[in-house]
Amino acid sequence: MSRAQSGAHARSPQSDRFGDIKRHFGAAALLELAQAEGLHHRGSGRNRSECPGCRNGDVRGVSIGERDGCGVWKCQRDEQHRGTAIDFLALARSIDPVEAVGELERIAGIDSRVPHHPSPPPRKPVAPPAYPPAQEVAKLWSRCAPLGLEPEIAAAWAARGIDVGHAEDRSLARALPRGVEVPRWAFGAGERWSEGPYRLIVPLHDCNGRLASLHARAAVAPHGKPKGLSPLGCTIVGLVMADPLTRLMLAGEPCGDDEPSANVVRRCDLVITEGVPDFLTWATRFNERATGAPAILGMIAGSWTEAVAARVPKGTAVYLRQHADAAGAKYSARIVETLGDRCSVFVTEAGAGGAP
Ligand SMILES: [Zn+2]
Repeated sequence: MSRAQSGAHARSPQSDRFGDIKRHFGAAALLELAQAEGLHHRGSGRNRSECPGCRNGDVRGVSIGERDGCGVWKCQRDEQHRGTAIDFLALARSIDPVEAVGELERIAGIDSRVPHHPSPPPRKPVAPPAYPPAQEVAKLWSRCAPLGLEPEIAAAWAARGIDVGHAEDRSLARALPRGVEVPRWAFGAGERWSEGPYRLIVPLHDCNGRLASLHARAAVAPHGKPKGLSPLGCTIVGLVMADPLTRLMLAGEPCGDDEPSANVVRRCDLVITEGVPDFLTWATRFNERATGAPAILGMIAGSWTEAVAARVPKGTAVYLRQHADAAGAKYSARIVETLGDRCSVFVTEAGAGGAP
């Protein structure tokens, strides 16, 4: 079939395809889609479905509405779970957005040139969400630049009181240069991480201190969009931001002077922060050689787990900086529950905005 051939239902250029499909799936069609994906919310009203990201039967699920003629949805539990029909299907099936558009065109019967499956493709079994492939994570991190080489990003974070040079020295954050090639999961809020404002990249470590994923953060959240993005279709549960001492603590490795990191953490305390700004503020506030500087660990949206808790040495004084909102209180309760019998946990308020 030649490229010149066109018809009423021929495929539009890539950019229009996204717009066409968003408009095709208004609120009603989006609800139908949720139903077809087995995510219909039985318990509640007509404008809800279960979240394709959480899939936990949470009573709140996602709310579905319409904006500018496009169906939109939003998870009540995780602010990153939101978007249009494209994001919904991409998350529900763990496919990338371009694939999702193709599938939605097929479902909507928009593109007659796409071969029709006689029946819907078999649903993938719902596997627990995983971390992105380790090699792709390492490669993307290696493509990120020191913050100093991306003055626009460095300035935006310096303006928030972050010591940018220090963040660089301690491998706490890097900048993703514009236009760099990124893996398919580095996508969110309608574009690739390297195309939009989400170009401050922070490494996420697992309970053994290994680099397991990345989180992309905007200095200032674009209107109506999330503040940060985690890899599409992947989980961040069990992953935390960690300063060098915390990384050693998680890995169970000694410090440079051979003193067990657990002893140092017990002596110097552990500060647990929530969100990227508070983590970077705390993790860059002490001089590298400062004796007695605490270990700093940052979680994102309750990524804390028992496995992470188990790495905190018994007897450590833990200072927990809680956001002044319901989610913050919930995360604190969880941390106290998992640490309370082994450590002294002191809860302090970090302020609703994140950065002090
Ligand atoms: Zn969700």
